[in-house]
Amino acid sequence: MKFVILLVAVAISFPIFAQNEEIDLTGVIDMHVHAGPDSRPRAMNDWEAVRMAEAAGLRAVLLKNHFTSTADRAALAAQLVPNLHVFGGVALNRSIGGINPEAVRQMAAFSGERGKVVWLPTFDSEFYVTRAGTSDPFVSVLEDGRPVADLIEVFSLVAENDLVLAMGHSSPEEVLALIPVAREQGVETILVTHVFGQDATRGQIRQMAAAGAIMELDWLAAYTNPLLLDDYVEVIQSVGAESFIISSDFGQEGNPDHATGMRDFIAALRSREINQEQIDTMAKYNPASLLGLD
Ligand SMILES: [Zn+2]
Repeated sequence: MKFVILLVAVAISFPIFAQNEEIDLTGVIDMHVHAGPDSRPRAMNDWEAVRMAEAAGLRAVLLKNHFTSTADRAALAAQLVPNLHVFGGVALNRSIGGINPEAVRQMAAFSGERGKVVWLPTFDSEFYVTRAGTSDPFVSVLEDGRPVADLIEVFSLVAENDLVLAMGHSSPEEVLALIPVAREQGVETILVTHVFGQDATRGQIRQMAAAGAIMELDWLAAYTNPLLLDDYVEVIQSVGAESFIISSDFGQEGNPDHATGMRDFIAALRSREINQEQIDTMAKYNPASLLGLD
């Protein structure tokens, strides 16, 4: 009986599997890779994640942790994988002191030069905490419509060190208010972290694109809510692939590995008439330019 079930399962899953296995990941970059050690349950650790990513043919990964810097972890993990670029960053949540310029300064100065991204608060952002309706403490980025103390210094450190400013779990209104402030400090590359997860409207997405921000579309959200793929396809076609990157956001316990996420994402976009040039722009060229790769 078990054998029959197994055969049926293989017969059903094989055609999809085979189709996605054909997708070549050469040049593809995943800028949203979670792995352990972490305070949340993860499917693999950094070493396992980079080894799997290299074996699958990815060009680069960016390790993300909500509570600690990954610039040092990326430098160590990179030593295991000569054919994969490994980057990290720091998220300005409460565990590292919130909007803390010194955390950014140190992250950028760490040997190995793997620190590339500064995320504004994610799970501790005011928008995330208040939307969740909890009474948890949060880290604000704006107070009375003005950037909080220390944010200007954070922005100038991002600019000085050629880092990417990622908007974390800020609200779309905060993102739009902060883009010009960051530009004034010389920040060139702005990444709007999973823009649909932040409830941005189509109008706000168009404004972010017009302001030169790159927006992230993540597979995790579409994997858990397949209807979201319609929205992704619609904005790629109407706003243009040049304003987006695609990433996996995988690493959660029970979910597939990052390369599988990227493959499935690319296959899903292809099945919805997103062409190879658009996919290359979002999976290869835009992430490479954010990370300073050729
Ligand atoms: Zn994530």
